Amino acid sequence: MDCPACGAPLTLEVGPERPPSTSLRDAVLAAEADERLEITRVCWDCGWQEVRQLRVESIDTTAGDEATVQRATLIDEINDELAGIESVDTLEEALATIRRHRDTNPVTTDTDDTTE
Ligand SMILES: [Zn+2]
Repeated sequence: MDCPACGAPLTLEVGPERPPSTSLRDAVLAAEADERLEITRVCWDCGWQEVRQLRVESIDTTAGDEATVQRATLIDEINDELAGIESVDTLEEALATIRRHRDTNPVTTDTDDTTE
């Protein structure tokens, strides 16, 4: 992601109430259901910035310890998406797509013990 004003690399910050060093991954992993994150993209060269909000709720699809692992996997996908997209709107679409994907393709480790 480059600055639309001057082309310099943008810095991504996640908030609110997160330390400046918090990565998007850590913020999403730590977020409560229904929590809203602020994603700020800042250009330190010219001062351009953009603040967008993202609801973490949309990827919190399971409960328990497995959720953390599965969310980490999802966040890998999100990070991949984020690296190549132009706006947080697109990221939100990616989250929705990932959720739909999960809904239609259950993870094998997440199935009930139907064959016991
Ligand atoms: Zn700039």
